[in-house]
Amino acid sequence: MHSNTPPVFRFAPSPNGALHLGHAYSALINYRMAKEHNGRFLIRIEDIDRVRCRPELEKAMLEDLEWLGLEWETPPRRQSEHFADYTQALDSLICEDLIYPSFMSRKQIRDKVTSKVKSGTDWKNDPDGSPLYPGEEREWSVEEQERERNRSPLHNLRLNMNAALERVSEPITFIETGTGPENQTGLCHAEPSRWGDLVLARSDTPTSYNLSAVVDDALQGITHVVRGRDLFHATSVHRLLQELLGLPEPEYHHHDLILADDGRKLSKSNGDTSLRALRHAGLTPQDVKRLVGF
Ligand code: GLU
Repeated sequence: MHSNTPPVFRFAPSPNGALHLGHAYSALINYRMAKEHNGRFLIRIEDIDRVRCRPELEKAMLEDLEWLGLEWETPPRRQSEHFADYTQALDSLICEDLIYPSFMSRKQIRDKVTSKVKSGTDWKNDPDGSPLYPGEEREWSVEEQERERNRSPLHNLRLNMNAALERVSEPITFIETGTGPENQTGLCHAEPSRWGDLVLARSDTPTSYNLSAVVDDALQGITHVVRGRDLFHATSVHRLLQELLGLPEPEYHHHDLILADDGRKLSKSNGDTSLRALRHAGLTPQDVKRLVGF
């Protein structure tokens, strides 16, 4: 596999807050693996959320990574400059009749699930803990969709999961060289149906994390996706989308997460573990590397 071209790794942060120790760890693992494989190392800026992602946060993020000693190919790919690529992928799924508009609000979804559970139905959650989409909008006629679209121009675009699974040959698998939350490793079976009819885009944003990550991994020729274990289950969706869109399959490596002292996942609001704060407190890049076990 990929014998004549060097492997390609990427670190793909979102500039919606300050980078913390967890990001440093993930970036350093990516960087080290790229070096070990004589590979290329890219940075991808995942800034499709035009409200939460800001240029000054992106600038600070890149400065932090430079301070850590990382070098990457420039310029980094900025997702907000490539919406046309995601629209194209989405359009092809729409042409395949795999996408439908969904007008249910979060509250309507919650209420519907609550009433199902009350009437004794065992309703499942997706791997992130949200209840699976319970609606029937996938059955709507074009006329019904049009009528509702006129009433509420802002809506979600969902993947019809059952229809999508009928288009691909199962089982869908992937190679995991790290470990999943239940120690999954080696040849793993993707389980996209655990996500139900997930949202792939919105009427005002032609993409989502899942769709743009998959499109970009292919366009950037990524051969090795190295990221935190919290994204292990998202890989099932990524593999399904790759099959539907005819995109190549990278190898996956999910690494452990750096946890806060209270055992919880670090978040961008954990100000005290931000690389900025540590640097201002006088830590050197070597100190940070030691802190995350390098
Ligand atoms: N942008 C994602 C994050 O910051 C990473 C996505 C990925 O590596 O696939 O969590």
